[in-house]
Amino acid sequence: KANRLFHPNNSEIKIGDQVIGGEKLAIIAGPCSVESREQITEVAKDVKASGANFLRGGAFKPRTSPYAFQGLGYDGLELLKEARKETGLPVVTELMSTNDLEKFIEDVDVIQIGARNMQNFDLLKELGRIKKPILLKRGLSATIEELLMSAEYIMAGGNENVILCERGIRTFENYTRNTLDLSAIPAIKKLSHLPIIIDPSHATGKWWMVESLAKAAVVAGADGLIIEVHNDPLNALCDGQQSLKPEAFDELMSDIKKLAPIV
Ligand code: PEP
Ligand code: MN
Repeated sequence: KANRLFHPNNSEIKIGDQVIGGEKLAIIAGPCSVESREQITEVAKDVKASGANFLRGGAFKPRTSPYAFQGLGYDGLELLKEARKETGLPVVTELMSTNDLEKFIEDVDVIQIGARNMQNFDLLKELGRIKKPILLKRGLSATIEELLMSAEYIMAGGNENVILCERGIRTFENYTRNTLDLSAIPAIKKLSHLPIIIDPSHATGKWWMVESLAKAAVVAGADGLIIEVHNDPLNALCDGQQSLKPEAFDELMSDIKKLAPIV
């Protein structure tokens, strides 16, 4: 179902009055994690003013250490809803467990499946039973074929609203957090009709690299970007080192607008 051969036209995924995979770029921006009402509403207003069309923010966080901040959970979802009400931005947030699926269907506009769950097949099968758009991130060491097969799991169940995301893969290089595989963009465009967006924040782990790779992704044909933005990166509870300040995000957006139309 994800195969371009049986589906020559690009898929356009509709989310409210937004479209991902159409003529225009989708820009998803916001903090790694929802931390407080002030933080999420402030960042939401800032990224909206710069032209983002979706708000991101994790409420359930897949952290390497069990002692690291795990997210605000259901309280985080409530704060995302408040930020959506204030700004009108649809919200994108990560689901880790099928236990929370009903709540996500109610509260969330796009369900993110993180790199670590790309091959959680039971979770993928459950997502196939719903209609909510799914943002499926490429696994840490997953091939393009494996990413597409995971999309296929969701689509096989009947949910064809899948957006793919390249977020960097593990290589021998450790200067950056991961290695952004820009070639995934033309590869996926050739193999599939699904939209592909790029996450330069998790790909690099360094805020000062986000700008150049975001632009490169747009020029290479990405359908959108997902970018971490924080109002106080130094004190962020998660991924501050790769988060842009709202001012830097605003500058990036002016450059991006010169490269491609934004939804
Ligand atoms: C995230 O988007 O916050 C995240 C945890 O990303 P990934 O699953 O790509 O590591
Ligand atoms: Mn993050």
